Amino acid sequence: MERYLDYFVPSHYDLDLNINDEKNQLSATATIRGEALAETIKLHAVNINIESILVDGKKGDYDGTADTIIINNLVQGNHEITIKYAAPITSDMEGVYLSTYKADNKDEKIVATQFESHYARQCFPCIDEPAAKATFTITISSADKTDIILSNMPAVSEDIEGNRKVVQFAETPKMSTYLVAFALGHFVSYETTSAHGITITSYAGIHQKASDLEYATHFAADVLDFYDDCFDTPFPLPKMDLLALPDFESGAMENWGLVTFREICLLCNEKSAQEIRQYVAIVVAHELSHMWFGDLVTMKWWDDLWLNESFANLMEVYSTDKIRPELHAWEDFYLTAVAQSLKRDSLPGVQPVKVEVKNVEDISNLFDSAIVYGKGSHLLLMLMRIMGESNFFAGLKDYFVAHQYGNTVSDDLWDALTPHCDFNVREFMTPWLVQSGLPVIDGDTQKRFLITGETDGSHYPIIEQTDDLSGHYIINNNEDELAAKVSQAATLSQEQKLRLLIDRRLLAKTSYAQSASLMPLAQAFSSETSACVWDFVSAIVADLKVFFDPESEEEEQFKAFVRKLALPNYRRLGVASRPEDTYDDVELRSTTMGLMLYSDDEEFLEAVEKAYENIDITDVDADLRWVVGAALVKKHDDLCAKYFEIYKKTPDSALKNDLIGAITMTKQKDTALGLFEHFKDGTVRAQDRLSFFLRLMRNHLVKNETLDWLYQNWEWLHREEGDKTIPDYPRYAANYIRKPEEAEKFKRFFNQHKDEKILARDVVIAYSEIDARLKLIATDRPAILDYLKNTV
Ligand SMILES: [Zn+2]
Repeated sequence: MERYLDYFVPSHYDLDLNINDEKNQLSATATIRGEALAETIKLHAVNINIESILVDGKKGDYDGTADTIIINNLVQGNHEITIKYAAPITSDMEGVYLSTYKADNKDEKIVATQFESHYARQCFPCIDEPAAKATFTITISSADKTDIILSNMPAVSEDIEGNRKVVQFAETPKMSTYLVAFALGHFVSYETTSAHGITITSYAGIHQKASDLEYATHFAADVLDFYDDCFDTPFPLPKMDLLALPDFESGAMENWGLVTFREICLLCNEKSAQEIRQYVAIVVAHELSHMWFGDLVTMKWWDDLWLNESFANLMEVYSTDKIRPELHAWEDFYLTAVAQSLKRDSLPGVQPVKVEVKNVEDISNLFDSAIVYGKGSHLLLMLMRIMGESNFFAGLKDYFVAHQYGNTVSDDLWDALTPHCDFNVREFMTPWLVQSGLPVIDGDTQKRFLITGETDGSHYPIIEQTDDLSGHYIINNNEDELAAKVSQAATLSQEQKLRLLIDRRLLAKTSYAQSASLMPLAQAFSSETSACVWDFVSAIVADLKVFFDPESEEEEQFKAFVRKLALPNYRRLGVASRPEDTYDDVELRSTTMGLMLYSDDEEFLEAVEKAYENIDITDVDADLRWVVGAALVKKHDDLCAKYFEIYKKTPDSALKNDLIGAITMTKQKDTALGLFEHFKDGTVRAQDRLSFFLRLMRNHLVKNETLDWLYQNWEWLHREEGDKTIPDYPRYAANYIRKPEEAEKFKRFFNQHKDEKILARDVVIAYSEIDARLKLIATDRPAILDYLKNTV
């Protein structure tokens, strides 16, 4: 792929950006200093309307294409290029975008940026490649004098000029374009200073409460200092801002000095569910680790994105656990990084951690989170345990010292770690990173594990095999070994228990093991009090659901099985929280209530009704809110309309999510189908659309209508969601296909789109997942029905 950095090496950008009255356009001047290596140079520029281009003060010779400005007839050497231009501000959550919301019934507007991976070029002409590091001096003016204006660096001057507010920011260190950021609007804020003297300020729209920023701000101060010590390389900026935005494409973005977040990733308080506090801490810890991995040291090109994301994904739990052990951060890692990456990596066609990036579409395709984030961090955990933590971090310190303000490739990391390893780290890690897939280990032998039951010649280096969760492989215990382990379950560590459950779940998806063998395994853990173990028992229940037709007699039997499974913990924990609850009690109560809800247990539904009938849903304990709401909706459909009104009005994203969970459980088809109207009228926020969609897929009454909606509204949806989110629809929708006729319809539709670069990989994976599931239902269903007959 052509690199514009080969023709021109920028050293400094002066950006003077004026945001106009309606906040839907900017007019600007960009002055770029740098060295031309050729007579003709190219700058990335998308939707930039050029007024003039001066080279060293004289009219430049230029032309352009849809995404490039070409400047001709340059003498090789240093130049100053000054470009006057205008650019639109869009609402698609990429580039410079507008986010709107209501506060006290008044319309509020925030202008914010999202430049990763290649959207800085929509804001200013630049060499929009991570290796093209330069310094930036940014000046922003707003037509609203009351706006707060933020950017990567602190302000050096703030003036009112006529009707405009003008803020000039301090020059940044050398950094990549994708990390430049700014935002303006009306904000509430909360500020603290870390023990190491960094000012941390969090911001949110004025529909939010400043007090909801306290938790994240204090945690950010602690985690930033923790990394300072851990990497032995001080945080180089004088301040750190965290900003929650009402519309946001991903979870959060690590712009240097100005991290932006989805509101649910930053806002919480002492009444929030403990899961939300854990989530906020982990996301903040993830983003702040990027201040080193990504911002200070940046991958040379996108094929080494794993150097950013795999590290951040490991550091987020490592640091959170050290600072706030009460949050059980590693359990989140087991559920996501470990379990999800093993599952995704067993699908044919899955990408490796390190992928070749040949064109712009490939960049959007890179963010397969279960692989680049999940598997990558799982491999790093394996490496950290083999090396030992102190050696691992000693190597990282060397890495930061050698490469700060620069760019790296994988080899630079191996060079830094090598002196701290007693094995060849490059030879060990490279096959894991460049090959896709994972092995299944059977005694002393290994072969690639695929959900199709097939294998290929791939071989994966293993230094030490363990039965904790550090290895990126599956252990195939034979029936005797399994029985022996299950009978000593009480003596196993938490990781060993999870290893058994995770491996068996995957094996049961193939001919290595019968799905029916999951049932006694789940029963063996029915009195277990670890919430994390129960997350996997509950995942087994979810896996087994595919074998039953909704509302059939067999499903009734299965529901009775599930009820029996959940009963010991349900009896112990009840339907309401207690002051003496442990972390596990709180999590486990909501898990068991979810299982009781699925089993349609009358006694449970009555208990919920009795405990909560006179309590407003907004006052229900946040840890139990969705399951209480869902249980009440089962009997009182009129609550859906009430909940939807609350959804529309509340600025609280966690409450919104819980309400989405409850409303979509409705037993009334019309109520569920009515929700689709709100996808287009703006009442369902863009960032909630996927969540609504997937939960409707889960409701068997409207699953087919939900799929039909997807097929009929695809063009509109693709336009609205953009290239990064749209592949999530086939990727996740495939999980709910369990009949040949559904599969046929799905394929008939996506066959029309499977050649689109952005979708190709996900469609192939979705097809193989669906085929494997249909095959599994055919082969494994009889034994499951037998087991049910004999036990329930
Ligand atoms: Zn990240």
